[in-house]
Amino acid sequence: MQLIDIGVNLTHASFDDQHVAVLERAFGAGVCQLVLTGTSLAESDHALSLCLKLDEHGDRLFSTAGVHPHDARHWNSDDSKRLRALLAEPQVRAVGECGLDFNRDFSPRPLQEKALEEQLSLAADLQMPVFLHERDAHPRFVQILRDYRDRLPAAVVHCFTGEQRALFDYLDLDLHIGITGWICDERRGAHLHPLVKEIPAGRLMLESDAPYLLPRSLRPKPKGGRNEPAFLPEVLREVALHRNESQDEVARHTTACARAFFGLPAIAEPSNEQSSDWDYR
Ligand SMILES: [Zn+2]
Repeated sequence: MQLIDIGVNLTHASFDDQHVAVLERAFGAGVCQLVLTGTSLAESDHALSLCLKLDEHGDRLFSTAGVHPHDARHWNSDDSKRLRALLAEPQVRAVGECGLDFNRDFSPRPLQEKALEEQLSLAADLQMPVFLHERDAHPRFVQILRDYRDRLPAAVVHCFTGEQRALFDYLDLDLHIGITGWICDERRGAHLHPLVKEIPAGRLMLESDAPYLLPRSLRPKPKGGRNEPAFLPEVLREVALHRNESQDEVARHTTACARAFFGLPAIAEPSNEQSSDWDYR
């Protein structure tokens, strides 16, 4: 079984000096490729450098480059140029994380909208897919996306946690949906259980969002509460349960979907006696 983690914050300080071990555990758990999330220009630079440093064959680690709505207040006219340069790097496969976050409002809303629109323009120019973040901003987010959708090759709403209306709006816009361990949280994620089967195969992808969003259903609970890409099979298990599909089936179509979305190379499926192929090198 192969899984692809389409959103891991490997640049987070909690992973410092542990990248090799974290990746070994991910590969050992069947997570064969990872897309590292870039959330600012500096973090996007950092994510790319981790890809180059840790993936000697260039077929396991990829990244996104963009500016998160939390950082949108720092967006300036130079950033578009710097972002364009990052997006020209072969390991960088999508524009983002970009979007709107009216939950935290760490950046003023007009600045969030400006940064989002400039990044959508860039994605349209470069014909690259987009990695989107939306929290408590659904109506405005859909309005903006509608203006750009026809010019974008593809876009994923990552870490979808919304209600049915939002999901259907996104599917109507032919967007992809990323599901995280939020669905494993019986307190705040149960509304996703009936919704996840409404997402067509080919539009659904899995992500850890590590180190955030440790799946609450995970047993035994890891010490420290830090999430890792190696726990992605727990998200798979919960998604498969509520879609009435086997885990193999969900792994197959979510992995094919992620590979097509980000343009990732195929990885040879290891046979049992060659399990060392999974080892990090
Ligand atoms: Zn996000």
